[in-house]
Amino acid sequence: MPATHTTLAQHVAIVTGASSGIGLAVAEAMAAAGAAVVINYHSQEAPADDLAERIIAAGGRATVIQADVADEADVARLFNETVDVYGRVDIVVCNSGVQKDAAIADMTLEDWNTVIDVNLTGQFLCAREAVRHFRRQPRSGRPARSAGTVIAMSSVHEIIPWAGHINYASAKGGSRMLTRSLAQEVAADGIRINAIAPGAIRTPINKEAWETEAALEKLLRLVPYGRIGEPEDVARAAVWLASDDADYVTGTTLFVDGGMSLYPEFRDNG
Ligand code: NAD
Repeated sequence: MPATHTTLAQHVAIVTGASSGIGLAVAEAMAAAGAAVVINYHSQEAPADDLAERIIAAGGRATVIQADVADEADVARLFNETVDVYGRVDIVVCNSGVQKDAAIADMTLEDWNTVIDVNLTGQFLCAREAVRHFRRQPRSGRPARSAGTVIAMSSVHEIIPWAGHINYASAKGGSRMLTRSLAQEVAADGIRINAIAPGAIRTPINKEAWETEAALEKLLRLVPYGRIGEPEDVARAAVWLASDDADYVTGTTLFVDGGMSLYPEFRDNG
């Protein structure tokens, strides 16, 4: 993976849940753009180590740190260890997420709590720690115009209701308002807070939706652009959103969804 550009040179980025899927691609793309990357993982250490090795072999900087984003002490440690290694933090991508799908009558409180804890409380804990660190860092010597930036990995389900997934859709709806409310709160500090809403991206979280031809064909009926998204589609958007090229962008959600949120069922029904 050659370092292709330097949009994020001298930046330090933490990417949560970076041992697979979208997080892995985001960490790799940010490293290729010149950032030192902290690859956070929860339980899959081997792919996180492999990614760090690839980045370092390509001349980049990467460190692997285990942490549960739903655990307050773990999140504080993730940030403190990042600062121990790199001296600062400029970009935080709150990417970790899980699904525990069930119809309402069968959804256990544990299914509900797990998804809210990881997908929403995890974003709160990481964003709070990010703001604390951004405010504490010296104003001089910043690599970016902003004092720091947070990207929350949301979903098209921050606006599209999703039967059978009320825990997930509730967490992503919460992420939408977390992004907007926090952006409003910290904009005067020069801190930018945004979200990315991926549509259907080929990762382990939604394997059953693309692994067979029949499932993929059904999925693509929901995607006007006519293809499934790849983690790199989201990663390129994240690099842009984290960079000074997006310096005037805060409190918004960038949809990376091939048009999935455009009510595709109305295409031939006008
Ligand atoms: P994935 O399962 O490959 O990645 C999820 C990551 O979160 C994994 O690395 C996992 O280890 C990590 N994680 C889970 N629990 C954690 C915890 N307690 N602490 C730290 N990390 C934890 O799936 P993905 O598709 O790459 O998902 C990444 C994000 O993108 C999620 O927030 C997901 O909701 C969102 N998203 C994905 C899609 C899609 O189509 N794949 C669509 C919209 C949104």
